[in-house]
Amino acid sequence: MKKIGILTSGGDCSGMNAAIRAAVRTAIRLNIEVVGFRKGYLGLMKGDAIPLDTKAVSGILHRGGTFLQSARSPEFKTPEGQQKAIDNLKELGVEGLVVLGGDGSLTGALALHRLGLPVVGIPSSIDNDIPYTDMALGVDTALNNIIYAVDCIKDTASSHARAFVIEVMGRNSGYLASISAIATGAEFALVPEREYDLAEICQQLRARFEEGRDNAIIILAEGAGHAREISDSIKDAIGFETRITVLGHYQRGGAPTVFDRLLASRFGKRAVELLISGNSGVMVGLSCNAILATPLEDVIKGEKRPQDEVLRLAEVLGV
Ligand code: ADP
Repeated sequence: MKKIGILTSGGDCSGMNAAIRAAVRTAIRLNIEVVGFRKGYLGLMKGDAIPLDTKAVSGILHRGGTFLQSARSPEFKTPEGQQKAIDNLKELGVEGLVVLGGDGSLTGALALHRLGLPVVGIPSSIDNDIPYTDMALGVDTALNNIIYAVDCIKDTASSHARAFVIEVMGRNSGYLASISAIATGAEFALVPEREYDLAEICQQLRARFEEGRDNAIIILAEGAGHAREISDSIKDAIGFETRITVLGHYQRGGAPTVFDRLLASRFGKRAVELLISGNSGVMVGLSCNAILATPLEDVIKGEKRPQDEVLRLAEVLGV
């Protein structure tokens, strides 16, 4: 293999830049040329590629987001879109591809593998719902962003004796909500994986305030309910001042944590090594602190990461 490509697709996350840098540096050591495709599969279908050498990836390790940019491309889901991508890769002499992204992007990577292109995926998604990796890239940074915000909000909640509903990302996954609730000592984590009874929550909050506690933090995964409805119910039921904070895209950005920088570096290096040693259609993943490769077929078919243990821990700790 003489030339490979790399792209970032779907939702961005911190650590993508560090992974691109590691992949490029690894490839260069092995005398392999690298090009980066801009805006994920969109750039692949347009042939929008830039050469990546050591200089091109200098000064990006500590920056959140992705300097190659990301995008969503419905056209790439079609056979015609995928064929366009294959044709461009052939024309550019690109013999293999590293794809960073979430489950949608990894499904796209599998489609390219099935069309005969050597592909390796790097799980990158703040939801941490990708099977066959203990942690996806960007999760740790997002969690650190969240707990910083929740700690700040707790200070002001306590000064004014308020209850706060803090909405975090996670349409189908309550990982960020559960872990951040455990890590900040929040009163409740409302997640899509677990049913909850709002009347019961209000009752517990009333008891809490009657005991003299001066604040309450309810962390809501975006897929588990409507912050306004929950906040209004609490207000009506206990007559307490409530506020809503939606953390939104703040969670995705910012300098990657040490954990994410290291994970990105390990993922980037291993992805290139796998690609050039003839492995294709696999995803790198973290398992018991080792970097393993799992067939993308299994990743896509696999059950979403179960939350059972985290939810049990939350329950035992009274979240
Ligand atoms: P994420 O990778 O973060 O899960 P998306 O689900 O939006 O984000 O997927 C990102 C891109 O991956 C899509 O815009 C599309 O180009 C590609 N993709 C998603 N699903 C498929 C699929 N089933 N087949 C081929 N490509 C897909």
